[in-house]
Amino acid sequence: MAVKITEECISCEACASECPVAAILPDGNEKNPKDGILYVKPESCVECVDHADSPRCAEACPTEGAIVWDMPYTVDFNSYYLSGNEKGEYKIREHKSKGLMLPEVKEQKFRADITMATREAHANVSDF
Ligand code: SF4
Ligand code: SF4
Repeated sequence: MAVKITEECISCEACASECPVAAILPDGNEKNPKDGILYVKPESCVECVDHADSPRCAEACPTEGAIVWDMPYTVDFNSYYLSGNEKGEYKIREHKSKGLMLPEVKEQKFRADITMATREAHANVSDF
């Protein structure tokens, strides 16, 4: 990831169409493991790097605390995402030949200026 959508989300869907890489799934989508909220696919989110100065989803979101930072989608956090996938926190895409698209299979871009402490705290994206 990335960024993550929390239980604060009111499902207004303002964020989804803003995503340049179609990483945000609506409530009810079969690939969304959550119920009642939207979901960011961590294997797709690029934190808007090369697309915008800051995450577009958070700029569009009217709800404080609905979009927060998560860990970078890099090999250093492979076990974090694997464990989250097993717990149902994420639903990582299963590729026909490559298998589960974890960071060890394909890393994603992330914003180096966001500290690990900020990410671990799942701080509000719009505060940064
Ligand atoms: S940070 Fe950017 S790439 Fe990631 S979900 Fe939000 S809009 Fe999409
Ligand atoms: S814009 Fe915010 S409140 Fe609306 S669906 Fe997206 S995350 Fe949820």
